[in-house]
Parts: sequence; structure tokens; C-alpha cells
Amino acid sequence: MSTISNHMPTDELQAIDAAHHMHPFTTQNELAERGARVITRAEGVWIHDSEGNKILDGMAGLWCVNIGYGRDRLAEVAARQMKELPYYNTFFMTTHVPAIALSQKLSELAPGNLNHVFYAGSGSEANDTNLRMVRTYWAEKGKPTKKIIISRKNAYHGSTVGAASLGGMGGMHAQGGLPIPDIHHIDQPDWWTEGGDQSPEEFGLERARQLEQAINDLGEDNVAAFIAEPVQGAGGVIVPPETYWPEIQRICDKYEILLIADEVICGFGRTGNWFGSQTVGWKPDIMTIAKGLSSGYQPIGASIVSDEIAEVIGGCEFNHGYTYSSHPVAAAVALENLNIMQEEKIVEHVRDDVGPYLKEKWQALADHPMVGEANIVGMMGSIALTPHKESRARFASDAGTVGYICRERCFANNLVMRHVGDRMIISPPLVMTRDEVDTLIERAAKSLDEGMARIKDEGLWKPAS
Ligand SMILES: *Cc1c(COP(=O)(O)O)cnc(C)c1O
Repeated sequence: MSTISNHMPTDELQAIDAAHHMHPFTTQNELAERGARVITRAEGVWIHDSEGNKILDGMAGLWCVNIGYGRDRLAEVAARQMKELPYYNTFFMTTHVPAIALSQKLSELAPGNLNHVFYAGSGSEANDTNLRMVRTYWAEKGKPTKKIIISRKNAYHGSTVGAASLGGMGGMHAQGGLPIPDIHHIDQPDWWTEGGDQSPEEFGLERARQLEQAINDLGEDNVAAFIAEPVQGAGGVIVPPETYWPEIQRICDKYEILLIADEVICGFGRTGNWFGSQTVGWKPDIMTIAKGLSSGYQPIGASIVSDEIAEVIGGCEFNHGYTYSSHPVAAAVALENLNIMQEEKIVEHVRDDVGPYLKEKWQALADHPMVGEANIVGMMGSIALTPHKESRARFASDAGTVGYICRERCFANNLVMRHVGDRMIISPPLVMTRDEVDTLIERAAKSLDEGMARIKDEGLWKPAS
């Protein structure tokens, strides 16, 4: 084990962290007791902690470090931009070169008529923009009653008041008085958990038709938009049955509502195309982007909107914006990130090379006695843990108990893999090599074996009745 000596001992760092640093989505007191893992540096697909462990990052940070860690070019661009123009806003009839260049690049990359970019500091902020933009759009078109946004249960669209309301996470709605009014949630297309006796095909159709039902129940004149992730990420990498998206598109074509594809995870190569909506064959009017936009090197998000929406919104003063909208350093870094993606053909790498390789290996995990289904699209995958595959049974313990044990085993084996309830998920850097995929799969399989042994030891190997 190599030690790194340019910082305080780990326990001292942990004590200060526990005393002063509040962590997101964390039970703070529990963390204070066990101590946070201190990550000190990273390169490629590997992160290092203060104890000298070298850990394979199967989550690309938080689904974002698509081009991998340690890219000098991004550091250099950031330094250059900071010296030249560290900050200026674009509110008062001003603009700057990084915003101009990035907007042009994004409109080239985005499909169809999506040619206009409104910047934010994050994915959550971009979805807040979308919420206000679609309602303003309809008001400007003389249809102010079109306000309701239809979303899906268990969707993740961010953590601001607006974005968390758009999202369908029960645990988030339970705190702080969410959701805000005029947001309606339909069921998610999670066949493994909720499909009952239906075939995946039937189930996919049924879940898609809930959108049509909702539009009819709420009244087309009251519905502004439908928002969805092409593949649900934080909800557990739920890959819908093949019948789902074509039916959603049919419904979207039939009614006059706007379609928002939340591409924060699926965008920028994650699914083997530039955007996830291309992979599932869906034509949005707005795309939310963040995460892979800058590979996480700078905080930046945006909404890419259609010519039609830009035209309508352009007719009024849209009273919305953030101090850091189109931040020049973030924009310059994002642009360089996209340049690297193009030069190194990273989308093609996912689509034609490492993606199919990972898919084959990942799907083979379904042979493990504790794995029910193994789903994967491009470089985002999930496995459902079950004590009884044939009946797709859940564990009797609280959802997440078993998943947590497996996640701990992954960490012990120097692999970052997350759990969502009792699903294990991966979303590794897109630049991963085949050798690194082999390491990921070996460590995942070993962790599943160890997790299963522990689950049995602890008497948790019981299906829910
Ligand atoms: C992460 C995420 C967001 C929120 O982005 P932040 O940058 O964390 O605000 C929104 N939508 C999806 C699909 C996400 O995965």
C-alpha cells in the first residue's frame, strides 16, 4: 500500500469533515460515526483514497466523468480562460467567446431543430429553467392554462424545489413540502419490479398509455409538457421494454404538448449515441444537459431548445437567469471536453467497441444465483438482486438492505458500484478499456459472491411474501 503524505492523517481529516461538512443525500450522524472515505486524486478510470487504495470508478464520479480523470487539456483551458476572462455575465446585452463557441458546438451536436442554448450551473437549474420556459411558452402563445407537466414516479430531475418536484422520488417529496402544484406523475416502465404477470411488451405498452390517459384526464388544454429521462438513471438504470418508447412517441405526436428529454445522464455518449433520445428514438423539443457536458470538470448545465420555442420565447423578456449562466470558464472547459470526445471518437468507442464488450460481460452476470435481470444500454447498466429469480421476488428485508451489503463488498474490493434499493448500478467513464471492463466484472462478481454469503449469514436470504 502506498501512502500519500501531503495531507493530514485520515482520521483527522474525517473528524474535521464530520464537524463542519454537511454531505448531500446522507444521514450525517451515521457518517460521522464511520468516517467519510477521503478521495485524494484520480486518473483515467481510477480514484485514490487517503489510505492508498486505488479504486476502479464504476460510476464516473456521479455519472459525469465521461472522458476520465486527469485530462491536462481541460486544466490548461481552464487556467487560460481564468487569466483572460474569469467571469462575465450575459444578462445585459453582452456575450463572450466561450458562450458563443459552445452554443454553436451544441447546436451542431444536438439533433434536428434543437439549436438554441440557455445555460445554468447544473442539471437541476436547467430543469427549473425548463419548467418556467414551457409555461411561459404556452402563455405567450395565448394558452396560459397549459401549465401541468407530466413526469414519472421514481424519475430523477435534480434537487432544487422545481427539479425535485418534477422528479418522482418519494423520499425527496416527503421533505420540505414538495411537489409544487401542477406536476403530475405517472408510473415508471420498470417491468422487473412492477410488471406482475404481464409480458414486458404488454407492460411497456400499458405504462406508455398512462401518458395518454393522463393527458385525457387532465385535459390537453391544461398540459404543458412531458419530461422523461430516455433511460432512468438514479431511479436504478431502468431500461424500458422495447414497446415503451415508440408508444410514447405516438402519443406525443398526437397531442399538442412539449417534450423534454432529460439527457443529463444519457447525453454525450452514455448510451452509444450523442444523446439518449436518439438511442430510444424519441424527438424532444427541449433537452436538459449537464454532467457529461463538461465531464464534471466544471459545474455547468443547459437547456437546448427548438427553433420554435426559441422564436416564441424570443418575443418576450424571459425573466429568468443565473449569475453563472454561461460561465466563461465552465463553457470553455465544456467545449474542450466535447472537442476531445470528437477527436478521440468516444461515442463510437461506446457504440462499437467497449459498449458491446461490456454488454456481453454484464449480461453474463445474470447467471449469478442472486442476479435476476442484468440490463445495459451503452455504458449504463443495472442488475436486480433477488432471492428467487423465477418469481422475480424481492427480498423480505427493507429495500436497500441487501443492496447496501453488496455495495460495501464492492468498496472493499476497490470497485465503486452504487445501489438503488436492491439494484446495483454502473455508469463508468466512457473511455474505459476492455481490460478495465474485465477488472470491473471480476470485482463485481467477487463482490456479489461475498455479498450473497453475508446475506445468507445474516439470515436475509428470504423472499418477500
Ligand atoms: C444528476 C441529474 C440531474 C441534476 O443535475 P445536477 O447537476 O445534480 O443538478 C437532473 N437530471 C438527471 C437525469 C440527473 O441524473
